[in-house]
Amino acid sequence: MIVVFLGPPGAGKGTQCKLIVDRYGLTHLSSGDILRRERKENTELGQKAQSYMDSGQLVPDDLIVAMMMKEIGSQSSGGYVLDGFPRTIGQAQELDKALVAAGKKVDVVLNLEVDDNKLETRITGRRSCGKCGTAYHVTFNPPKTEDQCDKGCGALTQRPDDTSEVVQQRIKTYHEQTSPLVEYYQQQGNVKNVNGNLDIQEVTKALYDVLDGVKTSA
Ligand code: ADP
Ligand code: ADP
Repeated sequence: MIVVFLGPPGAGKGTQCKLIVDRYGLTHLSSGDILRRERKENTELGQKAQSYMDSGQLVPDDLIVAMMMKEIGSQSSGGYVLDGFPRTIGQAQELDKALVAAGKKVDVVLNLEVDDNKLETRITGRRSCGKCGTAYHVTFNPPKTEDQCDKGCGALTQRPDDTSEVVQQRIKTYHEQTSPLVEYYQQQGNVKNVNGNLDIQEVTKALYDVLDGVKTSA
């Protein structure tokens, strides 16, 4: 099963991906996590991406498409969830082209809908584990021990782009460049809207209901 996860920044995509992948035997491919890894390793891609990420702009399509195609190509078998990619119509077209060439398709697009006025509180309260990528929230999903990852990875950190100013730019970027993807995929008839305003467990349940009903071509 190939799943595309859409939703504004802070909607809960990463949180839900970590909760659903095991149940369906899927791999979680997060473009944001891959970019942060590239930055940590100080690669050429990481250096090129830095200024865009820190200001809440999108990294150029050519860099992202090359990065994600490499990642998708290394999935020999089994399905995956794309979290944070595609984020522009151009990226979606490139993904479609590559999948068609491989005799595959996107089986379902999960569109996690959250009201804009909830996003800033979610993002500014987010604390992330730099090692395993798990996201916590100071109020809504606190770790068992303050500022420590539950999986024993060590201290949690706040992402440099999780500030009020950058969040506003990221939400604007989402509405301008990413939300048109909902209509793009609606034309393919595979979008499922999920209410992301609810509690984490309720959202997970709604996602299970959708994914349990997906018929895959594979
Ligand atoms: P995204 O990957 O879409 O940017 P995350 O999964 O990292 O979003 O979630 C953003 C923040 O909101 C995190 O701190 C997370 O713990 C919290 N969060 C996620 N889902 C919910 C929810 N349903 N209700 C409240 N807080 C949530
Ligand atoms: P969010 O919590 O906003 O969903 P991500 O971790 O997915 O954040 O992305 C962080 C940043 O990485 C984005 O603001 C953007 O600069 C860059 N990025 C991630 N995925 C993409 C993509 N598909 N296209 C362009 N830029 C991307």
